[in-house]
Amino acid sequence: MPNWELVRQDFSELRQTMNGERLAYLDNAATSLKPKSVIERLLSFYQQENANVHRGTYQLSFKATEEYEDARKVIQHFINAAAAREIIFTRGTTEGINLIASTYGEQNIEPGDEIVISLAEHHSNLIPWQQLALRKKATLKYINLTSTGEIDLADAKQKITAKTKIVAVTHVGNVLGNVSPIRKLAELAHQNGAIIVVDGAQAVCHLPVDVQELAADFYAFSGHKMLGPTGIGVLYGKQKLLEQMPPYQFGGEMIEDVQLDNSKWDQIPHKFEAGTPNIAGAIGLATAVKYLEQVGMAQVKARDAELMAYLLPKLMAIPGVKIYGSQNPQQHVGVVSFNLGTLHPHDVATALDMEGVAVRAGHHCAEPLVHSLGTNSTVRASLAFYNYQADCDQLINAIKETKEFFK
Ligand code: PLP
Repeated sequence: MPNWELVRQDFSELRQTMNGERLAYLDNAATSLKPKSVIERLLSFYQQENANVHRGTYQLSFKATEEYEDARKVIQHFINAAAAREIIFTRGTTEGINLIASTYGEQNIEPGDEIVISLAEHHSNLIPWQQLALRKKATLKYINLTSTGEIDLADAKQKITAKTKIVAVTHVGNVLGNVSPIRKLAELAHQNGAIIVVDGAQAVCHLPVDVQELAADFYAFSGHKMLGPTGIGVLYGKQKLLEQMPPYQFGGEMIEDVQLDNSKWDQIPHKFEAGTPNIAGAIGLATAVKYLEQVGMAQVKARDAELMAYLLPKLMAIPGVKIYGSQNPQQHVGVVSFNLGTLHPHDVATALDMEGVAVRAGHHCAEPLVHSLGTNSTVRASLAFYNYQADCDQLINAIKETKEFFK
């Protein structure tokens, strides 16, 4: 097991106080903190190695290109993609999903076709499909959730049919923290001739991910939720699919040949990386992945589960706290949503902030899901492996004080 005290020391942001209190950062699902190695890598790139990639004829540019392409290989191995060319750098999960909707979707969806998503989706994995369906006169169907917020597989079997062209689901939900049965959904999609797109934004930072084992056709995630910088993300896609798809954006770096009347595209992944990419971001993300690998994803998963097993029963024991989703900590990967009596979640979050506790309040960019829970908003606490039981205790005490204050 890693020495968690040493791990924690790598995250300098945790050393500060907030409103005079020790900072308990419990908004990791919004964005993670960054370890020293990632911050230092960004600094050293900009201080000594900054140059553009794929076009230079001098040492600095060769080196930047090598680092950028090495970063692609680091990501490839992290999610067990079959080849580095299946890794496309994007700005984040949102851009990755929009890329598929605008390319694969535009190319393959016909009037009357069906796209199947679930009721648990973040807006990033809902609106691109909703708008594609509207553009194409296709039908968007939603897989129902069970009473504890899990994907209802029986309903999925009804909804995924020979008319389905795309199934798009989240791997780990950002409101309830439940894990979707991706492999089973992938099998259902493939049996019906459809592809499966997986939103991995909340999964890659908590679970070991193997895209081949999951049988995912596409898998999108964001660097900033997994210790990396903002503005960089990854779209994994199966080579055969990526090769058949048209480009997403046009410009420099993505062409093989440009004539006055038409152009030819470069090979994948470059076909999907128009313009100067986020070079430092990709290199910083690779450093974040190496950090996660050093801690070990199995250890990260176990630590998250240990913290949730500590937090959830304490939260449930506070009279007036309503937990959304399962009462079983094992069904909350990193995330727990709750409300406190009739208090508005924003008031609760503001009161918690006064006690040094950072949580999120609102609809968490998942309005249909939150409405299906019978509310407009919740408070959400989200954990990372560098959190401590002391952070959980601080949250619990702050909730009790908030309750007293508003009595
Ligand atoms: N999908 C899920 C499940 C998320 O939690 C988020 C961010 O909160 C996103 C997609 C969008 O990620 P980004 O804003 O980094 O593109």
